[in-house]
Amino acid sequence: SYTVAELLRKPRLAGRVNEGRVAVVFESREVTFDELDERSDRLAGALHAQGFAKGDRVGVLLHNRVEWVELFFAVAKLGGVVVPLNYLLKAGELRYILDDCAASWVVYEQALEPVVKELRAGGSAARYVGVGTVDGDFAYEELISRAGPPPEVEVGSGDLFLLQYTSGTTGAPKGAMHTHATVLWNSFHQVVDYGITADEVYLVVPALCWAAGFHDLALATLWRGGRVVLSPSTGFTPERFLAMVERHRVTSVLLVPTVLKRVLGHPGLGDHDVSSLRLICSGGEPVPLTALADARRLLPSCAVLQVYGMSEFPTMMTYVRPDEAVGKAGSAGRACSAAEVRVVDERGQDTAPGEVGEIICRSPATMIGYYGKPDATAATLEGGWLHTGDLAHVDEDGYLYISGRSKDMIITGGLNVYPAEMERVVAQHPAVLEAAVVGVPDPEWGEFGAAMVVLRPGCELGEEELTRYLKSELATYKIPRRFTFTGTSLPRTTSGKVQKFRVRNLLGLR
Ligand code: ATP
Ligand code: MG
Repeated sequence: SYTVAELLRKPRLAGRVNEGRVAVVFESREVTFDELDERSDRLAGALHAQGFAKGDRVGVLLHNRVEWVELFFAVAKLGGVVVPLNYLLKAGELRYILDDCAASWVVYEQALEPVVKELRAGGSAARYVGVGTVDGDFAYEELISRAGPPPEVEVGSGDLFLLQYTSGTTGAPKGAMHTHATVLWNSFHQVVDYGITADEVYLVVPALCWAAGFHDLALATLWRGGRVVLSPSTGFTPERFLAMVERHRVTSVLLVPTVLKRVLGHPGLGDHDVSSLRLICSGGEPVPLTALADARRLLPSCAVLQVYGMSEFPTMMTYVRPDEAVGKAGSAGRACSAAEVRVVDERGQDTAPGEVGEIICRSPATMIGYYGKPDATAATLEGGWLHTGDLAHVDEDGYLYISGRSKDMIITGGLNVYPAEMERVVAQHPAVLEAAVVGVPDPEWGEFGAAMVVLRPGCELGEEELTRYLKSELATYKIPRRFTFTGTSLPRTTSGKVQKFRVRNLLGLR
């Protein structure tokens, strides 16, 4: 049956001359499709000989490096389950995930040895495979060097292959379950939607462990016989990024808004030849309009698309097509070719244009459930639709405009207010760097908005002046009634998303 491992073979089957073509590049190392296929075979064979059983969960605690990709395909061939672990998490957070999925293998590298020591000190049933200079219970290179036949395991497209843990923006992370089929559907629609060809050179900037790390465009690029270049997952600088784009003639990237803003604000942007870039996707949180406008001005020949996705649909569920990007700035676009996307009210009816409701989606690319969480699964996948918990409206042309998470919505005097809108307008004030708004219970209004406002260095701003400014931009009921000014940044997840529950704590709210 058709599995993720076919991604390595497909280009050959499709009749393209793939022999000798490079699949993955990291630093000075180039790995061809054949090598990747062969090395993942050997690794799979060795792990099998060590007792790896079909369905075993493998925690992957690695920075971006070639072994991450080899392991991904080896686990696919073994019928195992990849559990990407965010290396920025602390031991307690990692333990939560490893226990949640009862991982029996963890693959790690030297830089992460301290956290692994902590994990093991607390008692751990998993077997640890060390990559590079650490040995663990098994040494990765030692395993891979053992010549042996690849395992004979029956793996089907409906078998579980990936647990993509959510970021934990709204609470404890949940393991979104993906099968070979859902992963392949995620890649396949990208081949179609983004016109991926064998000429694609995709630079992976986010950490491979994130939802948007490997699945977004990287798998689709490999499927077509294109090349994936891995950026080191630490020490990002705009200069290094631009140099990599220039050196590898990169055609496409995905940058979270914070990183996109840094690249566009880099004074050395004009010193690099980045003419190979045809596509920049950005999402994961709202993409500021100013960043989209700057991108259009500074990189006129490159399409900058806002995209929307989540661990439950680990590529871009909706996107703005390159040829539509100009007219629909601020929109997250329309459904990808593999999904049906709707915005519905509480009764499940489609909302009228302009009216806010919940985004729901039906697709062969959505997760099949949350690992070990039947109640959350039933609620989220009710009626065969993925209920995203995100709010949006569509315009007359069917373009999606995201207003935020339903958990964050504020109801004041009976009117719905979306923190994202308040935050966007507050952040437009020249003295403001960024802002977060949360709801505060109020006997008279039901709720009102409280804003945490981060000022730009050296800037001063008072409540009165900011309120006066907001009155010129927003309906009165949308204006926050309480402001807390601070010089420190907002609390964020390791992937850069603002954690409202921590903002609430900082503001002394429950
Ligand atoms: P958790 O589910 O644990 O609270 P999370 O939802 O942040 O964490 P992810 O799956 O990594 O975990 O993130 C998906 C979410 O990110 C989406 O549900 C949505 O709220 C937000 N998001 C993604 N893209 C966009 C975008 N373009 N605009 C606004 N929000 C976005
Ligand atoms: Mg979520």
